[in-house]
Amino acid sequence: MLTNRQLFLLNTAQTSHSPRLIEIDRAEGIYLYGPNGEKYVDLVSGFAVSNIGHRHPKVLKAITDQLGKYLHVTVYGEFVQAPQVALATKLLAVLPKRFDTVYFTNSGAEATEGAMKIAKKFTGRREIIAAHNAYHGSTQGALSLIGNPEYHKAYAPLLPEIKFIRYNVPEDLHHITTGTAAVILEAIQGEAGIRVPDVGYIRAVRKRCDDTGSLLIFDEIQTGFGRTGKLFAFEHYGIEPDILLLAKGMGGGMPIGAFVANKAIMDVIKDNPILGHITTFGGHPVSSAAALASLNVILDEQLVEDVERKAQLFRRHLQHPAIREIRGKGLMLCLQMDSFSQVARISNYCAAHGVIIDWFLHCETALRIAPPLTINDEEIAMSCQVILNALQHEIS
Ligand code: PLP
Repeated sequence: MLTNRQLFLLNTAQTSHSPRLIEIDRAEGIYLYGPNGEKYVDLVSGFAVSNIGHRHPKVLKAITDQLGKYLHVTVYGEFVQAPQVALATKLLAVLPKRFDTVYFTNSGAEATEGAMKIAKKFTGRREIIAAHNAYHGSTQGALSLIGNPEYHKAYAPLLPEIKFIRYNVPEDLHHITTGTAAVILEAIQGEAGIRVPDVGYIRAVRKRCDDTGSLLIFDEIQTGFGRTGKLFAFEHYGIEPDILLLAKGMGGGMPIGAFVANKAIMDVIKDNPILGHITTFGGHPVSSAAALASLNVILDEQLVEDVERKAQLFRRHLQHPAIREIRGKGLMLCLQMDSFSQVARISNYCAAHGVIIDWFLHCETALRIAPPLTINDEEIAMSCQVILNALQHEIS
């Protein structure tokens, strides 16, 4: 009989030649467990998803309660589904007033797609400006914004009228003109290897968008829900985007995303033609219930307030000559190393010793650290010791 690992390789589509192949039996809090007694600290939160840890009891209760009521009932936007209404209401309550309507999706990429559409229709313009080394999702529209020639070549033709600027380079902002429908930026570039922009740069982007009548779309799919030490990373810059993209950490482990905007912008999908953006499963009631419970946990347990202190603990523990630089904001961190082979060996060593770390789509020479925000001081110290052991092992 074939093992699960063999069947995984045989029967499920593979995205690379070297999947991590760590088999998971169950998960709880910051830990993942394998079928043979393995125990791992999930130091990447399933890629910035499990901000409140795995299987938080309040999320499980919200899911169970909703299971007793209904699952899918109809396509998004038709029936009044209490979990969606409650989640939208809560989200808008924690966001600035300019945001007064939420469109729910299944994923981050879909949020990107929806945002591009409303920006084009609202402004009547066609051009969208994105940043080099961005990542906004893998569907063809979102992939058009990736700013990495390898992906463009392989999947051409992608969307026309996309221009790229360098991230955090004010000199490039003159490319934003009155022909630009929208500028889309990650609040902090994630897959580029955690690039934190200057406050002045983001403010200059906001101003240039205001001057040209272009919409500013902020992708907070990775930075949202407390990850960077604010509930949303735009708060670090003292600006408000026009459209906010959410997903990943939103659902407490369930699939859900959203694009959030002002009604004046969002309403363009209602007319000419009607049903301009529709989805069957977007805002699934079980995911919505889980997302509301997760947001309440983040707020009630005051998780955001402790992020910066925990981040400083990581930075203090992770002192080693092989680490060239520690970049990041809050618990969205990265360790810059010298080479991919070094990164691969270190992360393999860590996995073998019970700590999951990883690297980045556009930056294979850096290690990703994005633990659940619920990680405690002892667990931080213990995880960092494993990483330090890996670094010591690497140089000896
Ligand atoms: N935007 C950012 C910044 C992301 O990091 C990701 C996923 O990694 C996405 C968009 C796409 O989200 P999804 O994988 O849910 O489509």
